[in-house]
Amino acid sequence: MNAERPRILSGARASSPRIHIGNYEGAVKPWIDLQDDHEMYCMIADYHGLTTLGATPPDLGYWSRECAKDFVACGLDPEKCAIFIQSRVPQHAELHLILSMFTGLGKLERVPTFKEKKDNLGSDQQVSYGLLGYPVLQSADILLYRPFGVPVGKDQAAHLELSREIGRSFNSAYGVDYFPDFYTIVSTDESRSTLPGLDMRKMSKSYDNCIYINETADETAKKIMSAFTTPSKMKLSDPGIPEGCAVCQYLRLYSPNWESQWNEDRQGLRGCVQNKRELIEILNEFLRPMRERRAQIDDAEIERILADGTERATDFAAQTMREVRQIMRLA
Ligand code: AMP
Repeated sequence: MNAERPRILSGARASSPRIHIGNYEGAVKPWIDLQDDHEMYCMIADYHGLTTLGATPPDLGYWSRECAKDFVACGLDPEKCAIFIQSRVPQHAELHLILSMFTGLGKLERVPTFKEKKDNLGSDQQVSYGLLGYPVLQSADILLYRPFGVPVGKDQAAHLELSREIGRSFNSAYGVDYFPDFYTIVSTDESRSTLPGLDMRKMSKSYDNCIYINETADETAKKIMSAFTTPSKMKLSDPGIPEGCAVCQYLRLYSPNWESQWNEDRQGLRGCVQNKRELIEILNEFLRPMRERRAQIDDAEIERILADGTERATDFAAQTMREVRQIMRLA
């Protein structure tokens, strides 16, 4: 590994054709912060998007390409970071199969997100073999790049421990030190790692409480005007509780004056409408350059970026698989 630029693998499941500001703050921004000093591979995990399919499978190719456009618009630089779609690099599936032989069933059944996802499946969805095996595929995604570190949201930290264990099982079976004990890189900034949605639950597509990068300034304004604030603050002079108010939470992230805004809110010196108006201004200004860049990225440009990212990822992944096959004495 290049000691000057340690290798990082990061990724996001293709679960929608667009990303929200929670995805930006919790995932994409940390990748952007790493891209100058690391050899970065950024994967859009479309196979993982297949694990919770309903009766009508989505157009995952479209979702993945649109997501890639959002990443680039947010500031992920395709020169510094190989941006690629998982299914275009077949070595992910190959290593997944091999690693599945080194993974105990009991371990997979005890993964907390498996239980959670299983319970959340709709009536038209089944508990598939793929859903149970999600962490094995994720392990293959990571170990294929033998990375120094993997940046993830808090929700994924348990999976990574399992990935390290699977790598160790392989190493110990063949008496090698091949797959590394990579680092988990988790954000310590609590306010960004679980961004609340407009209703104060976690921002998530499934709750329909998101502000998207790729929506208009008017759409954002409309959403903020109806966002959740302090329920007991009926008139301007009622004291607010900024910790429980979505608008104040966003002010904290995006407004340079958030401390005085919070103080005035707490003391009943400002109303929710004023908070909302100021937030609309600041947040739309923050998102404006991303939206302008997003509008310029056409299908041809993203295809070029993805083709280049796929080539770089495949070069690395193919080398790993050649070495894995040698270690395993496969034909
Ligand atoms: P998802 O598409 O929901 O699986 O999200 C992809 C990644 O985005 C997650 O693993 C998190 O790192 C990040 N993320 C999603 N929702 C939020 C949120 N509300 N706040 C902060 N980060 C989030």
